[in-house]
Formats: sequence, C-alpha cells, structure tokens
Amino acid sequence: MKNLSDINVIKSVMGRHGVTFNKGLGQNFLVDPAVCPAMAEEAGLDKNTCAIEIGPGVGVLTAELAKRAGKVLSFEVDNRLLPVLDETLAEFDNVEIINQDVMKADLKGIIEEKCKGMDIAVCANLPYYITSPIIMLLLESKLPIKSITVMVQKEAADRLCADVGSRDGGAVTVAVNYYAESEMLFYVPKESFLPPPKVNSEVIQLTVRKEPPVKVADEEKFFKVVKAAFSQRRKTAENSISAGLGIPKSTVAEALEKANLEKTVRAEKLTMDDFATLAEIL
Ligand code: SAM
Repeated sequence: MKNLSDINVIKSVMGRHGVTFNKGLGQNFLVDPAVCPAMAEEAGLDKNTCAIEIGPGVGVLTAELAKRAGKVLSFEVDNRLLPVLDETLAEFDNVEIINQDVMKADLKGIIEEKCKGMDIAVCANLPYYITSPIIMLLLESKLPIKSITVMVQKEAADRLCADVGSRDGGAVTVAVNYYAESEMLFYVPKESFLPPPKVNSEVIQLTVRKEPPVKVADEEKFFKVVKAAFSQRRKTAENSISAGLGIPKSTVAEALEKANLEKTVRAEKLTMDDFATLAEIL
C-alpha cells in the first residue's frame, strides 16, 4: 500500500490525474504519518461500525478507517478526486465514495440504506470553511451516530469544547453541549498539512448523548433564545435577547428576574439550565 502521507506520493498521484489543490474547498491534506492512525484508533471502530468520513482528499484517513471499520462511507464534493481515490483505495472493498456535497446530501436516507444494523461513527479531517455547519448538521439531524471524531481549527475546537457558562462559550458551545459530551484529544500543528494552512488544528471528539442534559419543551424556542443571547456578545443578555427576538426589554427583564438571574448578566455566564428556564418563561 502506498504511503499516502508522503508528500511525494501525494504530489505524484495528484499530478498523474491532473488535480491541483483547491483552497476554496479547504484542501489541506495530512502529511504527518502519525495523525490518521491515531484519529482512527480514537474513533473506536470495529467490524460492526460504519465509519462516515467527510472529505477523503487522497484517502489518507479513509485507508485507516477502512482497516478498522466494517464499512466506510466517504463524502467528497470534488469529483476530480474520484480517479485519485480509485487508485489509492483500490485494495479496500469496504469503502464507498459518495460524490456529493455533505451539506446537501440525504444523510439519513444514505446511512439508513447503506449502514443498516451497524453502529455509526463519524471520523474526518473537516474542511474548515464549514466546520460548525457540518457538526451542527450531524448533531441536529438526530442520526444514530455514536461519536464524532474530527480535526478542526484550534480556535473552533476551543469554542466547540468550552464549558457552557465560560468565557470561550458561544451559541455553538450550548448547541454542542445539548447533543453531546465534548473532549479535546490532541493538537496538530499547521506544518502537518500540505499545503500548510494559516492556522493550527485540534482533534476533538463529541460523544452523542442519549438524552439532553436539560429538559426542554420546545427545542426550536430554546435555540432561538440561545442564538439571540449570544448575538451581541458585548451587550447584556437582556439587550441581546430583546433585540434578537424582537421583544420588549421589559419582557426579558421580567423573565430574567423570574429565573433568579441578574439584570446585567451576559450570555457567556448563563448555564444550560438558565437557558432552558428562560426559553420556558419567554
Ligand atoms: N481527509 C483528507 C486529509 O486528511 O488529508 C482531506 C481533508 S481536507 C481538510 C477536506 C476535504 O473535504 C477535501 O478533500 C475537500 O475536497 C472536501 N470537501 C470540502 N467541502 C466539502 C463538502 N461540502 N462536502 C464534501 N466534501 C467536501
């Protein structure tokens, strides 16, 4: 098997198929040989697991997933990479490349059809321009996913894995925490990629919860309140929620009081329970 983290191998296989790096698609390929085996190990795969990958590139992580999982479904939007992947993954008969934009694909239908009866684990080096949308799509679509082990930009990792109620927290932190438990796994410097991006990375793992940590009667309303609260970070939660939801400040002030919260509290200080209580009252 070819060493797909070797710069010369990557350049030669891409050159043979006339493929150049597309920056717009976040094509920074891993060249540190230790990273993909470590990610695939952390993903906890076995022969009854269907691994879902987003963006195989030249297949460096795909191959590690294929060695460990029963099946690999890998979504790649760039059709120029298909003949490359045909060549680099030729020895695996448990890999299916799906030439679709993951954001537009019928994930539920595809997974139900192709991974019937299997556990589902997502493992990917995500294209950074759509990190949070992909993660939210995976979590919100309530697919039968056990865990999501992904490489993301370091700053995104800090936000995704922050504690709710801490300075690094944001709307996405609350959303991730609602659906999953998050953990930082390991740091990956920018030199580990070809071409090197401007930012460093981190591999994180989200273990999908069976039940959310708070009881929420109306999820849509809960997330609307969360988004509104963080919409103007420098302002108080009272001001941002009022502006974000288009309701009078006095209504929000009343809700804060009923929830036993200070009038001047900021969104980053609110806990999951606080958001759930506010959504209920509002
Ligand atoms: N897995 C490879 C690696 O680690 O070297 C490549 C990772 S690269 C950071 C991101 C990959 O995602 C690229 O192959 C890119 O073409 C693909 N990609 C970008 N946007 C996508 C989308 N919307 N749907 C599916 N794949 C996408």
